[in-house]
Amino acid sequence: MSYGLFAVAVLRTEHLSATFRRITFGSPRLADLVWGGLDQRVKLVLATADQLAGVPGDDDWFEWWRSLPDAVRPPMRTYTIAAHRPGEGEVDIDFAVHGDSGPLSSFARGARPGDRLLLVAPGPGAEPDVGVAWRPASARRLLCVGDETALPAIRNILGTLSADQTCDVLVEVPDASDPCALPTAAQVRITWVVRRPGEAVGTRAEAVMFGTAASPSSPGEADPDLWEEATGTAGDRYAWVAGEVAWVNRLRTHLATRGYTGANASFMGYWRSGFPSRG
Ligand SMILES: Cc1cc2nc3c(=O)[nH]c(=O)nc-3n(C[C@H](O)[C@H](O)[C@H](O)COP(=O)(O)OP(=O)(O)OC[C@H]3O[C@@H](n4cnc5c(N)ncnc54)[C@H](O)[C@@H]3O)c2cc1C
Repeated sequence: MSYGLFAVAVLRTEHLSATFRRITFGSPRLADLVWGGLDQRVKLVLATADQLAGVPGDDDWFEWWRSLPDAVRPPMRTYTIAAHRPGEGEVDIDFAVHGDSGPLSSFARGARPGDRLLLVAPGPGAEPDVGVAWRPASARRLLCVGDETALPAIRNILGTLSADQTCDVLVEVPDASDPCALPTAAQVRITWVVRRPGEAVGTRAEAVMFGTAASPSSPGEADPDLWEEATGTAGDRYAWVAGEVAWVNRLRTHLATRGYTGANASFMGYWRSGFPSRG
């Protein structure tokens, strides 16, 4: 088995900040989950009670999900496990809540103990790195850039780094209460950028990185030192970028001109402004 199906229930919830709500899900079967950490992707399927009762086994779930008529197919979205406690049969997922515009954000906003859904995650026999995009090989000079949806992955990644690695981290979040501790053994420089209300995702982060703000509210904030050090000419470097699709695509273009290509960079669109995810 690679990815398997885990029927889980909400055990408890915690408000971490204005944006983030942590939900702890439980099931005795979560002892069998093979969590690779880092930015490993998992899926949440918001099935109805009837669907939960009729869901097939691990090998058949995707065909089952895909074969359902559009009108009743349960929403499926991608998330990052923030913590796995196999002994307790628990996982934490940190949701960046964005109102009720999406089914999973709405679920996270109103979740109560006992609410049930399906978690699709690596099961027994899975390679621990299945679904992991973080591939720095032997690079020691690292760059991690993301928006709020990438913060759980960035926190996981930083927790694995060693003292002989350096990492420039830039995270753009919606609210001043969102920055959090990012424990790591590496030498890091962490830049938090707080988006202004109504500002497009990434605008302020780009202003800080490149000094080329699209928004007139941002000039003068560029940190050329951050950029120079992160993109120096040494070959021993790797960039990881995740967040809103249009922003990630702009960063891909910028970073390609500075030597970050498919070989030493990973670019992931985590969500697309104005469009629901397709699962
Ligand atoms: C590999 C991977 C890992 C991810 N990990 C996490 C994680 O750990 N935590 C997390 O919160 N998200 C994470 N995401 C992002 C999450 O999957 C998307 O935000 C998803 O679209 C949320 O689903 P939804 O049902 O709330 O909204 P959808 O139904 O997909 O979208 C509805 C509307 O909401 C908008 N929207 C979607 N997400 C956001 C957002 N964050 N802010 C503002 N508007 C939004 C869409 O543009 C659309 O207009 C991850 C995505 C990927 C690909």
